[in-house]
Amino acid sequence: LINGNNSMWLVESDKQSTYAPLNSDVTVDFAIIGGGLSGLWTAYHLKTLDPSATVAVFEAESIASGASGRACGWLSGKPVGVREALAKVKGREAVIKTECLLREAVDKTIDIFTSYGADIGAHKGGTLTVARSESELKRLERSIQNDRAWGLTSDDLQFLNRHETLSRVQISEARGAAYMPSMARVDPAKMTQSLAAIVEKLGVAIHERSSVRFQGRRVTSNDYGINAKKIIVATEGYSAQLPFMKRTILPMNSSLIATAPLSENEWERVIWNNAEGISGMAHTYFYSARTPDNRIAIGGRGKPYRFASGFDTNGIVDNKTVQALKLLLDSLFPQVDLKVDYAWCGVIGVTRDWSPFVHQVAETGNIMLGGYAGQGLTAAYLGGRIASSLALDIDDDYASLPWVRDLPRKWEIEPLRWIGANGLYRVYSLADVLEHRKDSPKTVWFAGLADRIAGRVTK
Ligand SMILES: Cc1cc2nc3c(=O)[nH]c(=O)nc-3n(C[C@H](O)[C@H](O)[C@H](O)COP(=O)(O)OP(=O)(O)OC[C@H]3O[C@@H](n4cnc5c(N)ncnc54)[C@H](O)[C@@H]3O)c2cc1C
Repeated sequence: LINGNNSMWLVESDKQSTYAPLNSDVTVDFAIIGGGLSGLWTAYHLKTLDPSATVAVFEAESIASGASGRACGWLSGKPVGVREALAKVKGREAVIKTECLLREAVDKTIDIFTSYGADIGAHKGGTLTVARSESELKRLERSIQNDRAWGLTSDDLQFLNRHETLSRVQISEARGAAYMPSMARVDPAKMTQSLAAIVEKLGVAIHERSSVRFQGRRVTSNDYGINAKKIIVATEGYSAQLPFMKRTILPMNSSLIATAPLSENEWERVIWNNAEGISGMAHTYFYSARTPDNRIAIGGRGKPYRFASGFDTNGIVDNKTVQALKLLLDSLFPQVDLKVDYAWCGVIGVTRDWSPFVHQVAETGNIMLGGYAGQGLTAAYLGGRIASSLALDIDDDYASLPWVRDLPRKWEIEPLRWIGANGLYRVYSLADVLEHRKDSPKTVWFAGLADRIAGRVTK
């Protein structure tokens, strides 16, 4: 088992750092902090909207070393954020429009990589949200009704009965699923590294090993000054390290394991021919993908949160979490004997209302974006597009989407934050155990209460 090294994708790609650290003072129109998808898509959109703009991206470690190079690989058009929270900003129609743009972004993104000849391992097979108990099935039905009320048509979302679900993938105990076609599985590290190569071609300067520091009004990296008309902060789950972002984004841990590639014979028993992204309706969320090199990757929270917004070390996962994910994998696919090759983890950026933001500071014009709560591969494209309109003072439809808002309210101080995040996760685990044991269609009452305390009004 290879544990850590940021992610399987980065170990397998074995790409060396190619961009020089900042080694002199620099003056640009736009300085972007963070070499993940948010920062790189912002750079891309800035250069395509205004080719004369000078843009530089500063990455503390290397391109794709953050969440973007550690993801499971769902380039998904699923809604991002809590609809009710976002509707308070600009109303219901604006939320529906944002969701439509996210679905469109899946194809747009793939087209961009194709046009540059970049292979990101994309296969558009959609997602299956699978119910494996009576209470999960009831929640799935309610969630489909809710999606319909928010404008999703039968083109966007379909219910599959048990038989239809099993004909796509042989998941044990499956009782039904929601199928959404708007998802392509990708290799997220290749996608991020390819995007860096594309923006460099467009004239963007990229600096790796260039952590940006704020010392009063002075902005530096490696002790050299960064002078920019506007700064765009695209540090997502790592934002808690910046003085002005403390407690705005909680770095929630997410862990993954990946099996050895399955043989043809094993795939015949699993099926999964269309490489759909698979997740569940349990309170303790899991997500899974058939990777471009024919492994199964499966992820979940593990230890959800480290005290005082702490981080993992190079993506190393504790043994207990690896074992828990393997148990889950074996319970989904008992018909095959799977061997785990890789384990890794990273942080996802979660705001107090579980919804994303693109915030522009009125006095400086500087911009911060993020808060995708684990769904940033597509959201970063849209977030970057919105940030570019704001940065270039373009008053278009993107600038009036509900993600454009004040910074969400801050998370609680410690130790409340630690107790809340980890305590609620225990409550969810207990709820799953009880519901599974009873096999009643009812969701246990304290799981709903936990959702309200957490701020996750809808799931
Ligand atoms: C295990 C895991 C699985 C996931 N699976 C999926 C999935 O399948 N689908 C999906 O849509 N989303 C998934 N996500 C979430 C998704 O990866 C993120 O939402 C998305 O990548 C965020 O991109 P980003 O550019 O905003 O942040 P990041 O990719 O985290 O980039 C931020 C960068 O900022 C850099 N940085 C921080 N501070 C500084 C500084 N001071 N100076 C310079 N640089 C700095 C960091 O080093 C980092 O590289 C997953 C996340 C994890 C952790």
